Amino acid sequence: MNNSTDIIIIGAGPSGTAAAMILAQAGKRVVLIERGDFSGCKNMFGGAIYTTPTKEIYPEFWNTAPVERGIIRHSYALLGELDGTTISYDKQSSGETYEAYSVTRAKWDRWCAQQAEEAGAVLVKETLVKEILKDGNRIIGVKTDTGEEFFSKIVIIADGVNSILAKQLGFRKDIKPEHVALSIKEVLSIQKEAIEERFNLSDKTGCTYTIIGGPMSGITGMGFLYTGTNTVSIGVGVSLDDLQKNFLKPYDILNELKKHPILSPLLKGATLKEYSAHLIPEGGFKTIPKLYGNGVMITGDAAMLVNNVHWEGTNLAMFSGKYAAETAIEALEKNDFSENTLALYEKKLKNSFILKDMKTYEDVVPTIEKNAEAFLGYYPQKVNEFMDMFTTVDGIEKKTKYTGFISSVFKEKTLPSLIKDGIKLVKLAAGVFVK
Ligand SMILES: Cc1cc2nc3c(=O)[nH]c(=O)nc-3n(C[C@H](O)[C@H](O)[C@H](O)COP(=O)(O)OP(=O)(O)OC[C@H]3O[C@@H](n4cnc5c(N)ncnc54)[C@H](O)[C@@H]3O)c2cc1C
Repeated sequence: MNNSTDIIIIGAGPSGTAAAMILAQAGKRVVLIERGDFSGCKNMFGGAIYTTPTKEIYPEFWNTAPVERGIIRHSYALLGELDGTTISYDKQSSGETYEAYSVTRAKWDRWCAQQAEEAGAVLVKETLVKEILKDGNRIIGVKTDTGEEFFSKIVIIADGVNSILAKQLGFRKDIKPEHVALSIKEVLSIQKEAIEERFNLSDKTGCTYTIIGGPMSGITGMGFLYTGTNTVSIGVGVSLDDLQKNFLKPYDILNELKKHPILSPLLKGATLKEYSAHLIPEGGFKTIPKLYGNGVMITGDAAMLVNNVHWEGTNLAMFSGKYAAETAIEALEKNDFSENTLALYEKKLKNSFILKDMKTYEDVVPTIEKNAEAFLGYYPQKVNEFMDMFTTVDGIEKKTKYTGFISSVFKEKTLPSLIKDGIKLVKLAAGVFVK
């Protein structure tokens, strides 16, 4: 292969593959470099991909992509020690498609890379980019672990959350523990029919769980569960800061979660198929680094573009890849790869849902982190206590029970601390809705 091309993209995750396909479709020469044996082999997520944004990049993807189940239910479970309160939202498909699909990354990312290759991108696998090459303050290419050098007019860095390369350029600093969560996940094999019976699903439909409390009570962490065709993915994501401060092991938390009486019947007889660990950017809007420079743009997780309130990341990754590709096309047409021209990438991000949503949620994770004991411990526990009281028929007069519950709250929390927590919640809501 000729060592000089129009665009080099580092990392064949959702961001890099989308950028590569769009550039190749526009007739540009693109080289996509991936360290894994194949795209997706090192990648993990919850997870589901969301139909509306995904179909803008891959129209009618559901006909050919390796999607598993169409998501018809999102459940939110507040776990107590042995009990739990679950709220579910159900929405059946009204047409040909579902609002989201469960997928495995090993298959999904590989399919996305195939789309880029079919459009004309060159995929270089099993190759680690070690270094970004510079000429003065201009990026001119990359050097790989084999010592080979590839040159291009623009480099797109889509190498994921650790982004050693963005750090090398000085665009990013080392991630602080409070700005990242460590997630571990198990993919469990369960018979297809058993999944459908236990989760009340039909042949092609699936569901998700977001889990608060239980073994994560009082710490900044959430659990998740997704149904695949004949697998269930279950995992936890816990702030690295909380893991370090409390000497917690994420694997112990996941084991406890699997044993919880609300979840264990759903997982009965399951066998472990896969185990993986990954970091999730949690810092939000305030930790977004410099996004472009002379001859370079940074996309997806490498640019900390994740909305972890909603477990959204692939859509932000694909769209930032798309905007970087569109900017690169314009730069190639102008034959100008300077910072000035590539500033269009940031403009596109600012005008899109990506930076708008991240701005909207900028205070949510930090506020929850600071108040994890109350918001992710005490109050969920009180919800379960209330539900226990409300659903137990025991011959005790109701008014006595209700006043007993209210006085327990005032014994456990002072009035000023309840008011303070209430104000924080109102401020958070105002921050989200008024921005
Ligand atoms: C536990 C968890 C649950 C999640 N759940 C969801 C969900 O349900 N839905 C959702 O939309 N998002 C979810 N996300 C977020 C989503 O997975 C990420 O935001 C998304 O994968 C980011 O895509 P990316 O292309 O930027 O990075 P990545 O997917 O990390 O891809 C980066 C690629 O670069 C390659 N690479 C890295 N360094 C180099 C190098 N030096 N040279 C060559 N190649 C390199 C890697 O091998 C990888 O293939 C979740 C994330 C986690 C961790």
